[in-house]
Amino acid sequence: QEASPNTEEQDINQKEPITAIATPVGEGGIAVIRVSGKNAIAKVNEAFRGKDLTKQNSHTVHFGNIVNKNDNVVDEVLVTLFHSPKSYTGEETVEISCHGGVLVTQAVLEVMLELGIRSAEPGEFTQRAFLNGKMELSQAEAVADLIHAKSQKAMDAAHQQLEGQLGEHIKQFRQQIIDATAMVELELDFVEEDVEFADKEELERLLKELDEEIDNLLATYETGRLVKHGVRTVFIGLPNAGKSTLLNTLVGKERAIVTDIAGTTRDTIDVDWSYDGLRFKLTDTAGLRDTEDVIEAEGVKRSQEAFEKADLAVYLKDLSKELTQEEREDIAQFQKSAGDTPFVLIGTKNDIALDIEDERMDYDLKISALEGGKIDDLKKLMKQRALENKEYDSSSLLVTSSRHRDALQNAQENVRSALQALDQGMTGDFLSIDLRSALKDLGTITGEITTEDILDSIFSRFCIGK
Ligand code: GDP
Repeated sequence: QEASPNTEEQDINQKEPITAIATPVGEGGIAVIRVSGKNAIAKVNEAFRGKDLTKQNSHTVHFGNIVNKNDNVVDEVLVTLFHSPKSYTGEETVEISCHGGVLVTQAVLEVMLELGIRSAEPGEFTQRAFLNGKMELSQAEAVADLIHAKSQKAMDAAHQQLEGQLGEHIKQFRQQIIDATAMVELELDFVEEDVEFADKEELERLLKELDEEIDNLLATYETGRLVKHGVRTVFIGLPNAGKSTLLNTLVGKERAIVTDIAGTTRDTIDVDWSYDGLRFKLTDTAGLRDTEDVIEAEGVKRSQEAFEKADLAVYLKDLSKELTQEEREDIAQFQKSAGDTPFVLIGTKNDIALDIEDERMDYDLKISALEGGKIDDLKKLMKQRALENKEYDSSSLLVTSSRHRDALQNAQENVRSALQALDQGMTGDFLSIDLRSALKDLGTITGEITTEDILDSIFSRFCIGK
């Protein structure tokens, strides 16, 4: 692992110490209170009864008591010391492991606040780590993703980003642009002498290659988004087709109300469900038929919206009922309006299916949600169709954040505009402007270029204590 620019050799500009409980609120075996910043160890030492912490080495653990200002013992603790710059934030850091009760933990935190240490903002530790060059911005974002990850695949993707794989790609792109810019600007310097230094063909090749590589990375976003946010799956079909029953069978809990009165599911119901490492957001619709009922009509409207936003549409047809011409047309209509969105046609209630040989329908699968028939096949099918045509391999890098996608798209636009300028024989200064913009766009991903706004919105997603 390469050393970050600010570690080891350079001194870190340590800020005022901050503190927060770093473990979840609740009862547990232990809880950790973190303190980071200038003179953090000396500060904590004021309330510590045991060895003199200021005389101990980095990366050592010490047993003792935390006392309040009246010198009463608050808790027996273990403190871990980190000297700057060898800590998560790069600053001097103390981690106090105390007993895991809510009150005890809070009491230890209170002692830290009494010492004049300020409460940390959400994500402030990680923000300091970023500012101290401990990680790139895309890595800091990965920390948040990792914390919020709801499935194995989302965790894998966050881990990759945390390892800096995205950053590596972006660095490489930036280098390519810098090389191109150098070629162009060299020519600019000598423009008076009327010398052409830039090899147009070489420049064109470089830019085309870059355009293609950005394209490849952008192509992973669709998958990345599914992995991170889950596959938005909508169940559609006539009332009583068995949508709620299937949802309950998949999720394994009584989440949707199941009745045999048509139109019971008046609103859309969303449920989180994971299968084989992939997260799904299941939406049970109110059905999509025309209705006079106002409340039901609202439900139908929401169902329509859910259908339009879906990543996967599952149409359920009750096999115990004859297929009417109307439903046949409905299905065809849905299939058509689904467009590129994967659409699966499922026959339900196969246990009581009508004995009609030719329904002239091409079902992807016939299931029975009540009897549990073919449910595993359905799960497999859902995963397979959701990821179909998508590049998907747990080892490949995925762009999961819309912020990164936007930046990549902007960079690509600028690269393309430079290519166009080159093609039209424009002067180097035009190209140079485009290339420099592309460079800026990419810089926003790794954090070479940031604004307060970007930083605020990123770090506010963190929990306090991270
Ligand atoms: P929805 O309106 O599409 O959500 O349909 P429901 O899930 O509420 O189901 C309507 C009725 O069909 C209920 O009485 C269910 O018990 C019944 N049902 C659902 N799935 C099956 C199945 O696989 N087999 C049988 N025999 N009945 C089912």
